[in-house]
Amino acid sequence: MNPKTSTHKFSVKERARYLLATHDKTYDLLVVGGGATGAGIALDAASRGLSVVLIEKNDFAWGTSSRSTKLIHGGLRYLKQLELGLVREVGLERAIVHHNARHIVRPEKMLLPIVEDGSLGKWSSALALWVYDRLAKVDKTEARQMLTKEETLAAEPLLRSDIVNAGAMYYEYRTDDARLTIELIKTAVEHTALALNHSEMLNFTYDENNKVTGATIRDYILEEEYELKAKNVVNATGPWVDELRAKDADGVEGKRLHLSKGVHLVVDRERLPIQQALYFDVRQDGRMIFAIPRENCTYIGTTDTDYKGAIDSPRSEQADVNYILAACKEMFPEHPLTEDDIQSSWAGLRPLIHEEGKSASELSRKDEIFYASSGLISIAGGKLTGYRKMAERVVDQIVKRLGLEASCQTENLVLSGGDFASEEEFDHFIQLRVGEAKQISASPEQIGRLARRYGANLDLILENAFALYAEIQNPADRLLFAELQYALEYESVGSLADFFIRRTGKLYFERAAIIAEYPKVMQRMLKYFNWGPSELQLQMQELQQAYMQAVDFS
Ligand SMILES: Cc1cc2nc3c(=O)[nH]c(=O)nc-3n(C[C@H](O)[C@H](O)[C@H](O)COP(=O)(O)OP(=O)(O)OC[C@H]3O[C@@H](n4cnc5c(N)ncnc54)[C@H](O)[C@@H]3O)c2cc1C
Repeated sequence: MNPKTSTHKFSVKERARYLLATHDKTYDLLVVGGGATGAGIALDAASRGLSVVLIEKNDFAWGTSSRSTKLIHGGLRYLKQLELGLVREVGLERAIVHHNARHIVRPEKMLLPIVEDGSLGKWSSALALWVYDRLAKVDKTEARQMLTKEETLAAEPLLRSDIVNAGAMYYEYRTDDARLTIELIKTAVEHTALALNHSEMLNFTYDENNKVTGATIRDYILEEEYELKAKNVVNATGPWVDELRAKDADGVEGKRLHLSKGVHLVVDRERLPIQQALYFDVRQDGRMIFAIPRENCTYIGTTDTDYKGAIDSPRSEQADVNYILAACKEMFPEHPLTEDDIQSSWAGLRPLIHEEGKSASELSRKDEIFYASSGLISIAGGKLTGYRKMAERVVDQIVKRLGLEASCQTENLVLSGGDFASEEEFDHFIQLRVGEAKQISASPEQIGRLARRYGANLDLILENAFALYAEIQNPADRLLFAELQYALEYESVGSLADFFIRRTGKLYFERAAIIAEYPKVMQRMLKYFNWGPSELQLQMQELQQAYMQAVDFS
């Protein structure tokens, strides 16, 4: 069984060659921002045959798209706000994203305990989930199930038996937001888009009629500035959308963003050994938070607070930590967590649309498109889950402007690594590769983890590992270097942080491993990129800072 693997190499080392192609070219579309929104737009446009270039100032998914709750979900809580259209759209999208990226969008049963004085009663939960199943056209096999108190506690014995009255089990999908984004980018590249990370848009350029004609770009890999020309420019910079709108002639007119910060904490699975994912009440303020098991960890979140600080550096602060720990203590009093249990954390900013008089948690999660008189299109709001529909709406407008007829192609477009027709096919693939990888002493756990990270592209990693067999004796190092080689050649990794944070998620879920792995990874990257001493110093500083910040709440 040989599912389709990546066909296009995609390496930062080739940057100078990639940029040569941009000279004297006018693209149909320039996308600014390499989060899920920008990546989705680039893929949609490229798959309709448009020439596309995407620019990301840091790494792909560096912004909110690596700092979410990592769920592809219908947003049950938006039913409470009667956002039926939104629930319907993202609910339907869940199944599509799952089909197209089975390896990184995994079904996950979610338990909703119904508690004394909680925000949802037994009947309102049953009704909400009934509506949810219908709006999202949930498959019968994944339909909600109402549980008695006993069944709820059997499903999750850690829950507090004195306040749990009943429960509901329903399906969500778990993902890795940064990996979903890189798979979108890689698929766009396979459809001939040019995608450049570590490249910042500095200013828009205009013609004599003040229509936007492209942008000036600073490339941090080659340390040079250049201009990109495009017939259409989309600002998909999430929390930075208003910052870019302010650079345009119209400025931030009319609607503006309202940023809300969300924090997640990661603890060792043993410290909160839940059997399954939970969505539970924070009784003190009527909000709900998730606790999700992932590999050897459990992560918990999120908060939802107004944010006025620097957009580039939201942090998990003491108040955020106290809030989440208190919520856990109330629900799992026999497993009280303390700050010392926190292995890692992340803080992200929701780019919501401001509505006068509403607090962050009351604001709609709907997306909004802004059209400026210069022709600049900006898009903000929305959910990771809804990236495909958001992209369709934006690209429909661009296609119209270009006078073309090209319909959206992404509904059945399999993302890089996701070439599996069913869950059974994916499971079978893992089993086969576990067998084959015994020859290089790779464990079933290692292969399973890599398969869920890279899908069919695991085959390219295994090819690397077999080729390294004679050179590298230690099996764990061999697999690590094989993975790094794939990340460098096919996933545009340009820094240690790109690899340890967004390609592998190790900073969040295997933080302890970084200490042992980073010197070895650094050696190989140094050789690959031929870094000098000052570059090496910068690379280490960036990773160390992220490493420390993940547990610094001062
Ligand atoms: C705490 C939290 C939990 C969430 N949980 C979920 C969830 O479970 N499921 C879900 O569906 N949604 C969730 N969301 C929402 C979802 O994460 C966001 O809607 C989505 O990631 C936004 O993506 P984006 O591409 O618009 O923005 P971003 O991911 O922030 O991307 C914007 C990019 O633009 C880049 N950029 C900025 N300025 C420039 C410039 N001048 N030049 C080039 N590049 C630039 C930035 O570096 C950044 O990478 C959550 C959000 C938060 C904050």
